[in-house]
Amino acid sequence: MSFSIDEPYPQTLPDDAIGPDSNKVRWIGDPTHHLTVSKKPVSYTPIMSSGNSRRDWYEGRGLWQHVSAEDWKNWGWQLKNRITTQEEIERYFTLSTAERKGCYFANKKLALAITPYFFNLIDFKDEDCPIRRQVIPRIEEMETSPEELLDPCGEDGNMPVPGLVHRYPDRVLFLVTDRCAAYCRYCTRSRLVSNSQGYDFHPEYEQGLRYIESHPEIRDVLLSGGDPLLMADRKLDYLLGRLRAIRHVEFIRIGSRIPIFLPQRITPELCEILRKHEPIWMSIHANHPRECTLEVKEACDRLARAGVPLGNQSVLLKDVNDDVETMKELVHRLLVMRVRPYYLYQCDLITGSAHLRSDVLKGIEIIENLRGHTTGYAVPQFVIDAPGGGGKVPINPEYVKQVGEDAIVIRNYEGKEFRYSRHIGGARPEDPAETEVVEAPAGRILD
Ligand code: SF4
Repeated sequence: MSFSIDEPYPQTLPDDAIGPDSNKVRWIGDPTHHLTVSKKPVSYTPIMSSGNSRRDWYEGRGLWQHVSAEDWKNWGWQLKNRITTQEEIERYFTLSTAERKGCYFANKKLALAITPYFFNLIDFKDEDCPIRRQVIPRIEEMETSPEELLDPCGEDGNMPVPGLVHRYPDRVLFLVTDRCAAYCRYCTRSRLVSNSQGYDFHPEYEQGLRYIESHPEIRDVLLSGGDPLLMADRKLDYLLGRLRAIRHVEFIRIGSRIPIFLPQRITPELCEILRKHEPIWMSIHANHPRECTLEVKEACDRLARAGVPLGNQSVLLKDVNDDVETMKELVHRLLVMRVRPYYLYQCDLITGSAHLRSDVLKGIEIIENLRGHTTGYAVPQFVIDAPGGGGKVPINPEYVKQVGEDAIVIRNYEGKEFRYSRHIGGARPEDPAETEVVEAPAGRILD
């Protein structure tokens, strides 16, 4: 489907559009009673080792051997030397036709930009490389499925001040920039990020700060964008200082993919600013174990030493991380980097993302195969951001099989069932559930 910058986004799904494949996960059993995900044979051969040995973690200048170590570690150099055109990419490898067409249209939808550091992680020989799928545009981005929206989370309707989203009573989302170090092809805010669609985003810092000051119910401010860590140190220091001066703001959170796209930005000076304005929490955004490199590990270490608790938000992406092996490897690596896997997002219904959107059931299958099978800290919460602004809804495999007046019947990660009395210090229930169950000791902890 062709697309012109002057035309509105197409609203219908063309016959040949690529959409989520709903046949890939098979469910067995009565879905209204208890959902059981079919278990395809899973090999746990590590994609990469999550061990601590330096040789297991990617590092180095890769294609940029000719560049001095000083330049390579300079985040300004990385930004200045970003790959931004099809011609630049094809100096290194040949794009597919779909990618070449995607590059042609990219700057009319969401800019194309990849830091040299992140570009090194692409497998040039693999058209389906999970890194490549995240940052190289494809023509499918110009197709819009009927269910897709320009503002899938309904943010624009909840902005009392440009750039400030106040949806939940006690917290706000403060969009402080529309720029990122690199651009993710499935970005929820592609309507405004990189300003390719003429949104003309201008965050009103002063108005936003005054709004927060005048709303004593706001105890938590999440800085996002774009990427807040692209702001210059002085500007960020000022903004954090203003926010910390508001008595009812208990803490600040930062959502950033900079540690993954541009770990060089996590300088000692930046860490000092973050330490100064503590408590600051940070959510980073890694989707695939290959993104956990030695440079990222060291950047996370600097943040952790500055007292910044780290969580990770992944987006479930088709043929990037929508399988158990990949996600297991990712969450293990994150823990080694002292990053707690926090959310696994179902990809929002953003325009032109159908080719990257995985089936919701894949996400449930992944959680089913993590919970109980590995460390509890490693299991993120799978969520759907309800379309239109309903907020995050947790999506879980079903562990409660029956709720009776006297007891509930639960199952564990192995599928074994247990009856747990609802009586508190009373007699045992007289009519146990019809299901044959194994008694579990009260208060049993699964992991
Ligand atoms: S880093 Fe975040 S805001 Fe920027 S393009 Fe990626 S998802 Fe969007």
